[in-house]
Formats: sequence, C-alpha cells, structure tokens
Amino acid sequence: MPNTPLTPRSEAERRDAADPLAALRSEFVIPDDSLIYLDGNSLGRLSKASLARVEEVVAGEWGTRLIRSWNERWQTLPQVVGDFLGEQFLGAAPGQVVVSDSTSVNLYKLASAALDARPGRDVIVSDLNNFPTDRYVLEGLAAARGLELKLVEFDELLGPTAEQVRAVVDERTALVSLSQVDYRSAALADLGAVNQVVHEAGALVLWDLCHSAGAVPIELDATGTDLAVGCTYKYLNGGPGSPAFLYVNRSLIEDLRQPIWGWYGQRDQFAMGQGYDPVPSATRFLVGTPQVVGVSLVDAGARVLASAGIKPLRDKGVALTEFAIGLFDAWLAPLGFTLGSPRDAAVRGSHVSVRHPEAYRICRALIEQHDVVPDFRTPDRVRLGMAPATTRFVDVWDAFDAMRRIVETRAYEQVDPTRTDVT
Ligand SMILES: *Cc1c(COP(=O)(O)O)cnc(C)c1O
Repeated sequence: MPNTPLTPRSEAERRDAADPLAALRSEFVIPDDSLIYLDGNSLGRLSKASLARVEEVVAGEWGTRLIRSWNERWQTLPQVVGDFLGEQFLGAAPGQVVVSDSTSVNLYKLASAALDARPGRDVIVSDLNNFPTDRYVLEGLAAARGLELKLVEFDELLGPTAEQVRAVVDERTALVSLSQVDYRSAALADLGAVNQVVHEAGALVLWDLCHSAGAVPIELDATGTDLAVGCTYKYLNGGPGSPAFLYVNRSLIEDLRQPIWGWYGQRDQFAMGQGYDPVPSATRFLVGTPQVVGVSLVDAGARVLASAGIKPLRDKGVALTEFAIGLFDAWLAPLGFTLGSPRDAAVRGSHVSVRHPEAYRICRALIEQHDVVPDFRTPDRVRLGMAPATTRFVDVWDAFDAMRRIVETRAYEQVDPTRTDVT
C-alpha cells in the first residue's frame, strides 16, 4: 500500500499566506476566531458593511426620512439590486432579475407562469432528489392542474446531465426544473447543455441557483436560460431569511404572467386603476411592497463579494475543496468514509460531502467537542461548506483533523443521538 503523504498544518498556513483573497475575511464580523465555520453555504457570515447598512436603512432612511425614502431609494430596490446581482454573479443583462419573496415563492411564481405558457403539455420534469421545497412546490402545481410530475433519479455525483435529460423530455414536457448545484454532493450541472436539450423538446427550463450563486460564475444569458431562482442568504451573505432573486429571460418576459397579480407588478402602479395590466419588464414578477431592510442587506453582502470578483472567489472555492479532498484521501478514506462529492473540480460547487454511517454523531461531535460547524444531510453525509470569502485553509485542515480524531477515538459515541430540529 502506498504511504499516504502527511500534510502538516503548516501547509495550510502556507496556503493562507499565499491566498490573494485572505484580506476579504477582515470585511466580516468574526467575533470568535477559533470557531471553524463550514456552513457559509447554508447561512453566509455577517459582513461589516451589512451592520453599517442596517443602521443606515433603519435609523436613517426609515427613522429620519420616513415615507420620503420610497421615492428617494426604496421603490426601485428590487430591480436595482437585481440588476447588480445579474451583472456581478448571474451573467444577466439589466431588466431581467428582481429581488423579492423567498426562493420557494419565486419558484412557484415562475413555474406557474411557465406552465401557462405551454398549454396542452402535461408533464413537469424534476430531480427525484432535488431540494425538498422545489419538489413540494412542483408537486402542488401538478396536483392543482392535473399534470404529471416526473421525478427522475440522476446520479448524485454527476447531477442531471444533458444526455439523461434528453432521454426524459418529449412533446408532453412543459417544464424542466432542476438545481444547478446538488445540495447534497455539490455536483454542478451544465446549464447550456441541459437548456439546449430542453429547448429541442419545446419545453421551458427553470434553474434553482441557491447553491451556486456567489460561489460559481453563472452565465444565464449566454447559456440561453429561460428562468432561474435562488436565495441570497447562502454564499451571497444577505442574512437569515433575506429575500431571494428571480430571473426571467428578456425574450420571455412579455409572454409570461405570474399567478399572483399584485400591485407592484402593475403598470402605472399609483394610478390605482381598474384591471391588472402588468409592466412589460421583470418588474411584473414582483407582488407586494418590497422587503426594504432585507433587500438592502442583500445589496450590502453582495457588494463585499463583488469587490473580490466571482472568478477569484471561484478559484479559491476550487482550491479549498481540492485541499479538502486531498485530506479526505489521506485521513478519512482509510477510516471507512466515502467521498460524497465529485472529484473533478470543474463539475463541483463549493462544498464537499463526506459519508459515514455515523455521520450524524460525527457532526454533533464536531460541533460540541471541536467548535467546528458543518451540517448533517440525511442519511449519512457530513457537509462541509467552504465559502470562499471567509474560509481559510487552516479551517479545512482543522476540521478534517478533528473528524479523523473523532472516528479514530470513537469520540462520537459520547454524543446524544437525538436529532435536533435544524441539522
Ligand atoms: C436553500 C435552498 C432553498 C431554500 O428555499 P427558501 O424558500 O429560501 O426556504 C431552495 N432550493 C435550494 C436548492 C436550496 O438550496
């Protein structure tokens, strides 16, 4: 058996010293430097700019300017911040992205609009292992409209490939709804290739970008994407429950009508007129009054990332996950773990899952005994999110070292196996 090379902690320190994004971490509020936070893919860290923005928006715009702030700044926030996300992270020209509601609600709005645009077609295609809210929303739409929801089982390490999608779409397919990055494995789908096969079948495609936005460069316009949604509280650092974004390709906007006819989608809103007549832009996908504080924080968090640039962020995400997989091979594979993520960085997002029958208790032991925060994904995954803006190579080294020791010494046996609500 070949000797596994020992990677000393000094190797991680060397990489941190050479990291061109190392200074970005100081833009974030990090009260406890010893906490190893590997959950930035679930809830991104708080930026210093966000703290300052809360004060500005709440005390200044709300407290001082009061209702005058609607005209001064608030009224167009969903579009302005949407365009910014489009430009910096989504490869979307202005006028196609707005920030509003939650990912689940936006998914419902866009899926419903897409189904209306494909009358006579009675099948929705999605991934059997798609993120649960996506499946439930589609299930509800299929039930309400008497459509068939076809849930396809894709290989977890490959994600939905164009070949597999081609095999399941036909003239009955109205909509294909998939996630770009698999929330379990981080498998990264090829947007352009999948879009093409869906379009050849005459259907529309709706991507969920929750685990890619802010971590992986995305080219919605260039890949011919029809529709997309995504959340802003993960890699984009918008804060807990921050409003989501939605994208509608310009060529489709005027043909699509969303199911919730609210006044924020209405032409000449303050004419208070009779009859719904939606704006001929992405604004028609808004519903009600924007969540001003939330959208402002999306802007603040995203600006910190944009100052680094998505390409350097992606490069660091790749370097962190490659480093993690090297440690996995050296330390965890011999202890009975298997790798739950693709080995090829080109088709991997910014997290790494490792699988072990005792994953739940290993996760709890990391949190309780080592101050390492990953998350657990049923049934046997420890998911380690490496948010490029704030994760250090030493964090990865320490987390893998802790996992190795927990399993070698069976320290997980001391952990209460009762599941907590949020894992
Ligand atoms: C996190 C996540 C969501 C969350 O949706 P909410 O409406 O914000 O709760 C949806 N889809 C995917 C793929 C996710 O990772």
